[in-house]
Amino acid sequence: MSIIEENLKVVEERICKACERSGRDRSEVTLIAVSKTKPVEDIREAMRCGITVFGENKVQEIRDKTEAITEKLDWHMIGHLQNNKVKYLPGKVCMIHSVDNLKLAQEIEKQAAKHDLVMDILCEVNVAEEDSKFGLKVSETEDFIREIAGFEHVNVRGLMTIAPYTENPESNRGYFNMLKNLKDSINEKDILDHKMDVLSMGMTGDYEVAIEEGATFVRVGTGIFGARNYNI
Ligand SMILES: *Cc1c(COP(=O)(O)O)cnc(C)c1O
Repeated sequence: MSIIEENLKVVEERICKACERSGRDRSEVTLIAVSKTKPVEDIREAMRCGITVFGENKVQEIRDKTEAITEKLDWHMIGHLQNNKVKYLPGKVCMIHSVDNLKLAQEIEKQAAKHDLVMDILCEVNVAEEDSKFGLKVSETEDFIREIAGFEHVNVRGLMTIAPYTENPESNRGYFNMLKNLKDSINEKDILDHKMDVLSMGMTGDYEVAIEEGATFVRVGTGIFGARNYNI
């Protein structure tokens, strides 16, 4: 068994246990395998193990990898996105997780319209209000969604957060709970013509707690592919 296959077994088992503990069905949670910085061979190994949903944080890497791997996969853009790169994404990714300003939402609207498609997006919320992180404040999120609710080619599917890095996942439970409550409270106000159904939260260090708090997408990189090397 390859390391990736072994890691995936462990992650799958932990996801199942977290679902059991919180009375959720396994089908409510989608594992996004975060393959950033990892070579195509690693992605192919994960595919061999049944993974079809991948997350990347750089547009160039998405372009290169979707060119090298032409099989039908779900690619998610999870990283900070510059307006001038948006044009490369329609048709390549099924969701953009990192929308946190109006200019970016407007550019997605424009580029999705050009491709005659509707782009699923998540609003990134900096729940812990860390200075180092992108994302809306909790207090700004409802108004932001009001501003983009009418966009015809942007479909707000839910909320995403990157919780603080921590050795103790329990310390992020409150942040995950805040994101869940924020989604529920915005849904109650019927700002959108549909209910948001996605909560993208939880990474290698804390995905089990995130699932217990309602995550529908967990984004796991290191736990599947091993540590990343940014110097290559
Ligand atoms: C890199 C990354 C992840 C995966 O992080 P790990 O700790 O390796 O699981 C998840 N979400 C985002 C937005 C990332 O950039």
